[in-house]
Amino acid sequence: MSSAAERRQKILDEIAAAARLARRDPGHIELIAVSKTRSAEDMEALIAAGQRDFGESRVQEALGKWPAILARHQAIRLHWIGRLQSNKAGEAVRLFDVIHSLDRTSLIEALVREADKAGRFPAVYVQVNIGEEEQKGGCALGEVGALVEAVRASPLPLAGLMAIPPLGLEPAPFFALLAKIAREHGVEGLSMGMSSDFRSAVMLGATAVRVGTALFED
Ligand SMILES: *Cc1c(COP(=O)(O)O)cnc(C)c1O
Repeated sequence: MSSAAERRQKILDEIAAAARLARRDPGHIELIAVSKTRSAEDMEALIAAGQRDFGESRVQEALGKWPAILARHQAIRLHWIGRLQSNKAGEAVRLFDVIHSLDRTSLIEALVREADKAGRFPAVYVQVNIGEEEQKGGCALGEVGALVEAVRASPLPLAGLMAIPPLGLEPAPFFALLAKIAREHGVEGLSMGMSSDFRSAVMLGATAVRVGTALFED
């Protein structure tokens, strides 16, 4: 059995190796530890190993476990990676530093309203429904431009584009497509790649990978 610190180092090494193969600077890729369903002890172990970026997808769970950890540790950045209902925008703005699932203009309005109240302006990724799936979060491919412009016109910093490729299909073509759409809109950040496919995402331009299972389980 390996420790969380060992698994993290292995993943960082794999990210760096994939980046070098693609002639990219490994320093341009951030590892987000997806800590949904994981215990506070699991997170403390990763924080001790140097991990600073964490991703969550359930508001109540995140509200239950993070405030105590944040009180003990500086410089943690929390990423919201789940679907976001507009009525949770206030909680999201107060707890999270980055939101990866902006997929409609009404949500920008809700976030800006709450950000103004809280005096906190999280960076946002526009989430794209890259496989054009019925039930999936994310905006349609044709809506990306309008959403990117709406974020640029708002006080929320634009972090980039985010996507989750369809389950069961080879992910690389979808990563390449997201990178192409980002280039078309002059967007640099790309949140793509999870435990099973982060190496390919890095080779295709990911600037943030969201890894859970491979960090927390042997
Ligand atoms: C759970 C989750 C991940 C992490 O998935 P793993 O396969 O456990 O690495 C990444 N992104 C999103 C949006 C998730 O919900």
